[in-house]
Amino acid sequence: MRHLGSPTLFLSRLALKILVILLLCGVLPVVLTGLLTQRRSEDVLRERVSDALTTHLGERKAEIHAWMGDRLRDATRWASAFIVFDAVETMMRAGGDANRARELNDYLQSVLGNTRVYESLFVVNRQGDVLAATRAERLEKSVRRQLADRTDLEQESVRLVVRSEVLNRATLLALYPIRGQRGTTLAFLVERIDLRELEPLLRKLDGPLALSFWLLDRDGNVFVRRGVVAEASKPLTLDFSRSELVREGTLDDSARALYCLTALAPPLGGYLVAGIGSAEARESLAKAGWPILVVALVGISALVVAFLWATRGVLRPILFLSEGARRLSAGDLNVYLPVWGRDEIGALTATFNEMIRRIREGREAIEDARDELARANEDLRAANQTLEELAITDGLTGLYNHRHFQDSLEREIRRCDREGRPLSLLMIDIDHFKQFNDRWGHTEGDAALRRVAGQIMKTIRASDSAFRYGGEELAVLLPGCMKGQAREVAEKVRLAVADSWSRRATPAPWLTVSVGVATSPDDARVARGLVDAADVALYAAKARGRDCVVVAEAVGPVSTSEP
Ligand code: GH3
Ligand code: MG
Ligand code: MG
Repeated sequence: MRHLGSPTLFLSRLALKILVILLLCGVLPVVLTGLLTQRRSEDVLRERVSDALTTHLGERKAEIHAWMGDRLRDATRWASAFIVFDAVETMMRAGGDANRARELNDYLQSVLGNTRVYESLFVVNRQGDVLAATRAERLEKSVRRQLADRTDLEQESVRLVVRSEVLNRATLLALYPIRGQRGTTLAFLVERIDLRELEPLLRKLDGPLALSFWLLDRDGNVFVRRGVVAEASKPLTLDFSRSELVREGTLDDSARALYCLTALAPPLGGYLVAGIGSAEARESLAKAGWPILVVALVGISALVVAFLWATRGVLRPILFLSEGARRLSAGDLNVYLPVWGRDEIGALTATFNEMIRRIREGREAIEDARDELARANEDLRAANQTLEELAITDGLTGLYNHRHFQDSLEREIRRCDREGRPLSLLMIDIDHFKQFNDRWGHTEGDAALRRVAGQIMKTIRASDSAFRYGGEELAVLLPGCMKGQAREVAEKVRLAVADSWSRRATPAPWLTVSVGVATSPDDARVARGLVDAADVALYAAKARGRDCVVVAEAVGPVSTSEP
């Protein structure tokens, strides 16, 4: 009995099929859920981007307004100082007063102090001419034009973002009216504010969503780009009509961006834009998708591990069964499958083992019966052979009997004739056998008959055949033997018989034989003719005194006619 070796578990087709089904059942839902979750998280993140854009835009806008409020408060305080009003009024009435101008300069220097917010403070008249300044100053032509065009300057403070002709960069000018006694605007206190002071308020946002900020004027000219004061460049062409709405478009480079803009309150005016590159936003989305992917991979790995565990218990017995059945179909009955557990598969395995045991027993029984049958057949064949031999054998002498002599003679004469060979026949008769019987008894006669038969068998060749023709007459067929050779054989037989007796003891039984020889085709071509010719020769031998050999030709022609 041979136990099966452990089958290859994970390369079997069954295992692969189950693995595919498991993966389909397990992985598909995981992947679909992952995709849906990712899609949902994309929506959420898109919302987060929008929220971040609008929220931070609002915050930065409020900070800018607050910052501008501080600048306005400074300007209001300084412009309404008596020393300023007094100096300006005096200077304008007197058409220029060096002392008052110096006083005004000193005042402006003192309030400017060490602050970095203001690059300079100066006072201009309504035409834009500088009356006093903390450093050499000149009002930009564009602003002078605006002053000339404006009719409502009496009421407002004016804040303008302009590109400084001297500095060649954006700078913020805040003009605040210095009013006379009747409320008329005598001149303007001008704050030249370093726009770079806004950079900290417009710096890039830290964190996963790195938003950048742009500050534009009313015409879309960029003054601050990504939080840094920018040089002159092409104005941005954005849809300024729809503020506070997140859109996708192109900002100051060719890359697509998600952006949101808001108008800054007048009189500062202009727009604040917050934006993030679309690619950057997606990258942050992709990063957010990683945990989902990791969870999905962990889920799939857990599934495969579960598969390995499950197949160990369930698949292995099935694979053993499959291998056992394959060997059984190949004729191998020496198989025993290990039985695991008491479940259906265990019961099936035990049944399989029992089935093989029964088949094996059945085959052994069949093999035993077959051996028995073979032995019986062999016995039968031997018995048949014995029977056949008995049927053609003479019981006393052991030579072939008369009937077999007739059959053999017919067959041999035809065969020799066909092959062109001679066939010789010896007819042997014991001499005076009647007297022998009478003297020594029939028992001794039978023994003598057997002895003569034995001497004949010793003398002839294996290809020759000896027969008991009848009574004390015996015959020998010599196929292929010509007459001369036949005579020699006959002579040997005669001498062998004669010499077989011990004549020293007296009285002792002894015998001689007479032999007649005939040969086909010389003496006859048919069976009966040959027998007759041999008979005639035998009679001639008797006539010549017995214990001798006579060949047919010596007694003349013999009739070969058929009966
Ligand atoms: P011849 O020399 O002329 O042949 O004389 P013979 O006596 O041999 O011939 P005959 O034909 O007169 O006698 C044959 C005898 O052979 C008769 C019979 O007793 C004897 N005989 C024939 N068959 C058997 C046998 O099977 N056993 C014994 N003991 N004798 C037999
Ligand atoms: Mg006789
Ligand atoms: Mg005789």
